[in-house]
Amino acid sequence: MSDKYETHEASDCDDALRELYGFLDGELTDDRRHLISSHLDDCSPCLEAFDFENELRHLVASKCHDDVPDGLRERIADAIAGCDDAEVE
Ligand SMILES: [Zn+2]
Repeated sequence: MSDKYETHEASDCDDALRELYGFLDGELTDDRRHLISSHLDDCSPCLEAFDFENELRHLVASKCHDDVPDGLRERIADAIAGCDDAEVE
């Protein structure tokens, strides 16, 4: 029945989306990467999801570099250390 085809497609998408982070982090084997990138060629919803996540990562990465100077980073570390002390007391 046609149900079988749909189920197959959906699980391909599930697999692709499950591996999204591994794919973007470069943690997958060549086989897995190849499988997913060929799925993305055929499946625009998944491709959009990957693109979106990819863009988001670049955005967050560049924003974080710009917006968190070393001084602030140290103050945050101090604040966290301070919290630890307060909790211990
Ligand atoms: Zn898909």
